[in-house]
Amino acid sequence: MPLYDVLIIGAGPSGLFTAVKAAEKIDCILILEKQPDPGHKLLLTGSSHCNFTNIRPVLEFPRAYGDHGSFLKPALMNFSNLEAIEFFKQNGIEPMVIEENGKVFPKSLKAGDILNTLLALCEKRRVSILFRQKANRARRQPSGLFEVQTISGTYQSRRLVIATGGKSYPGTGSTGDGYSLAQSMGHSLVEPRPGLTPFFIRNFPLADLTGTSFKNLRVTLWRKSKKSKTLSGDLLITRQGLSGPVIHNLARYAVAGDKVTIAFVPFENHETFRNQWMADLDKSGKIKVRTWIRHYPLTLALTRKIMALADVNPDTFVAGLSRKKRLELLEYVSAFPLEIEALGDFNIAMITCGGVALDEINRKTMESRIVKGLYFVGEVMDIDGDSGGYALQAVWSTSALAASAIIRSF
Ligand SMILES: Cc1cc2nc3c(=O)[nH]c(=O)nc-3n(C[C@H](O)[C@H](O)[C@H](O)COP(=O)(O)OP(=O)(O)OC[C@H]3O[C@@H](n4cnc5c(N)ncnc54)[C@H](O)[C@@H]3O)c2cc1C
Repeated sequence: MPLYDVLIIGAGPSGLFTAVKAAEKIDCILILEKQPDPGHKLLLTGSSHCNFTNIRPVLEFPRAYGDHGSFLKPALMNFSNLEAIEFFKQNGIEPMVIEENGKVFPKSLKAGDILNTLLALCEKRRVSILFRQKANRARRQPSGLFEVQTISGTYQSRRLVIATGGKSYPGTGSTGDGYSLAQSMGHSLVEPRPGLTPFFIRNFPLADLTGTSFKNLRVTLWRKSKKSKTLSGDLLITRQGLSGPVIHNLARYAVAGDKVTIAFVPFENHETFRNQWMADLDKSGKIKVRTWIRHYPLTLALTRKIMALADVNPDTFVAGLSRKKRLELLEYVSAFPLEIEALGDFNIAMITCGGVALDEINRKTMESRIVKGLYFVGEVMDIDGDSGGYALQAVWSTSALAASAIIRSF
């Protein structure tokens, strides 16, 4: 039976990057991948353009991972976004920053370039990759060596890295296998659930605006009439509901049945905005509603929709609008009310929330606190980031930290 220094399960970005970094000092590394090819999900990232990190200051990164930001801090400080950009630059990937939201892509806009870079480095550093090798079982023997079984072989190693990703987009190979492997070695799981998903809206009234996108809208989530979260960002109307970065990021906090309100116009304080709205109407009696409402930054299609929903004839003069109608229009413009019927499932979620419990992993090394020599990297852990390159930055940072801890452990 061959004996490897490091065996990595999964040839996604976290498995490949851990191998590349560990191979700077370690010779005998094997990756087992169950698919016929590596990095299926990586190739889909950022609509195949690969938003591989964000340019925002690294000290602000932990906030993008919700409650789990503090776990990631040592990894982010050890290998930051700037180091990720520099690493890829030194390996031929020119970065391109989108000023507006700090997203960083390869200038070529090809996710395949990131994957090919990692594969070329694996080859150069003599990392072996075996495909169609699904790890079915893993255990640490009394000797301290790990034994991993696939359908066609058994492999032994001194260190074991689980890099199997989460459960979303199962067609890419991420089907949650790492969870059962971790559990079989004594680890607990935080129940995995779909993350960065769209909202399906009950009786969606905006379906005829499908495909319309809005810049930097404020969206608020409500549970049992209590405000639970407000976020701002770009929003996309779909046939069955809402999508886009602001919705994906809110999905972490949402459950079916929650209410959502959208502010289609910017304002600081709702009370002040309401007073201005009513005063503005009072002094505009001789203007038609369709003309008056154009003072506000609303698209024509949305204006028409709002008028229809409020049952207001656009050719009515403002003076003819009752107080009730004025308030109704205000609500549609400043707090458009909707109800979440369902969140997207694992087939369409971009990431998995939940995973291997973080309190059983050393955040300074990514080593298991339960099994010596076992490491976790990437999305298999209970980590989820906002939309904007944060998931992949967590991959680079946790993988680099694990690799240096593995090197030190020999
Ligand atoms: C459509 C889409 C777009 C995205 N866009 C972005 C983006 O632009 N920016 C960003 O930061 N993030 C993005 N993400 C998230 C990002 O792709 C993931 O966070 C990242 O791929 C996780 O990397 P990973 O290596 O941990 O897991 P994965 O990429 O899931 O890789 C895991 C690998 O392990 C293999 N594997 C699983 N089980 C076994 C087993 N038992 N034996 C052997 N091999 C196994 C799988 O086949 C797979 O190759 C996107 C995700 C999706 C779905």
